[in-house]
Amino acid sequence: MSKYRINTNCVQAGYTPENGQPRVTPIVQSTTYRYTSGEEVGKLFDLEADGFFYTRLSNPTSDVVEKRIAALEGGVGALFTSSGQAASTLSILNICGAGDHIIAGNAIYGGTFNLFGVTLPKIGIETTFVPTDVTAEELETKFKENTKAVFIESLTNPSLEIPDIEMFAKAAHAHGVPLIVDNTFATPINCRPIEHGADIVVHSTSKYLDGHAVALGGIIVDGGTFDWNNGKYPGLTEPDDSYHGVVYTERFGNAAYITKARTQLMRDLGVTPSPNNAFLLSIGLETLHLRVQRHCENATKVAEYLAAHDKIEWVNYPSMEGNKFYPMAQKYMPKGTCGVISFGVKGGREAAMKLMDSLQLAAIVVHVADAKTGVLHPASTTHRQLTDEQLLEAGIGPELIRFSVGIEDVEDIIEDLAQALEQI
Ligand SMILES: *Cc1c(COP(=O)(O)O)cnc(C)c1O
Repeated sequence: MSKYRINTNCVQAGYTPENGQPRVTPIVQSTTYRYTSGEEVGKLFDLEADGFFYTRLSNPTSDVVEKRIAALEGGVGALFTSSGQAASTLSILNICGAGDHIIAGNAIYGGTFNLFGVTLPKIGIETTFVPTDVTAEELETKFKENTKAVFIESLTNPSLEIPDIEMFAKAAHAHGVPLIVDNTFATPINCRPIEHGADIVVHSTSKYLDGHAVALGGIIVDGGTFDWNNGKYPGLTEPDDSYHGVVYTERFGNAAYITKARTQLMRDLGVTPSPNNAFLLSIGLETLHLRVQRHCENATKVAEYLAAHDKIEWVNYPSMEGNKFYPMAQKYMPKGTCGVISFGVKGGREAAMKLMDSLQLAAIVVHVADAKTGVLHPASTTHRQLTDEQLLEAGIGPELIRFSVGIEDVEDIIEDLAQALEQI
């Protein structure tokens, strides 16, 4: 555990150069590592010694971001993956197999929604989706004998809903299953789910953690808090035939989950990030605390500007009083939520498209959550195959604009919006 505060950990955790070594995290662009005796390599394979032997499993540059993000989230270990989707997939496959069931929030990221709703059922893992604001009583009725995990997003992309993390954790634990939280939008700067009862945290590092839209990546952080010895997780508590009968909970204690994810699933599935992407992420993380603060300050000002504008119908930003999830934002993210807001333009689809096309500083991009302000009109892009009626059913009105506020001068962002609004 790092003795430093979170802002220091953003800059330095995970890498302490020794005398004469590079000050900057080195990019170890090597798949393989040299040893002087076969016995040493044997020990690595038997998990009896620590060390790098093949980059599919671990790499010194990835190791730095794993240690740094574990420190930021307050976990006992982490596994860096090739994308956020890979992290979410492994987080489930590590404890679920055919015949198992999970419970997940219904407003989670579209990619994860498809993974749980369409792809995992093909290999025998079923999901029950629940609303973000589900009551404890309603949630209780969704658990089954074969339920193995509960999965939520601390701040949903893109609808910006915030679940009662402690309520979900309590329900999961009462049924002997872990709570997995995707903390991508809030980041550990604004919310640390493990402190609220989550057991596993996942991220798409492609968003704020990287922060510059340069590298895809994902991470799984193990809180080390969950007791797997309750009969539901034989993969962790009984001998693993693919590793000479190792019992993860016996050998690795409270790091059993993350060790199994690496040694078994990363070995077999190979969703390995490149060392260069680990390096880019390490650079992004050095300014995470500063960027997130500025994203939130700017987004608050933009949301306030839009809310007061007579051509705007509504604004959705949970850090703004009056928002349905404002009380949850106050409880779990009192310092701020994120830089993404959504709003509706009066005049529907046509006005929204005109506004988007008129913006000059804000670029039309599918990505969110990086330094540069971006805008997207889902009805004419990501969701263009849907009719207006279907859009409304999906909670995405034809007037909805998703606006990812960057860290430019907020006056320029607002002036850009002002001139674009003039034109409709
Ligand atoms: C983007 C995103 C993902 C998927 O991450 P990729 O890195 O694009 O694979 C998962 N969860 C959330 C909340 C996201 O925003």
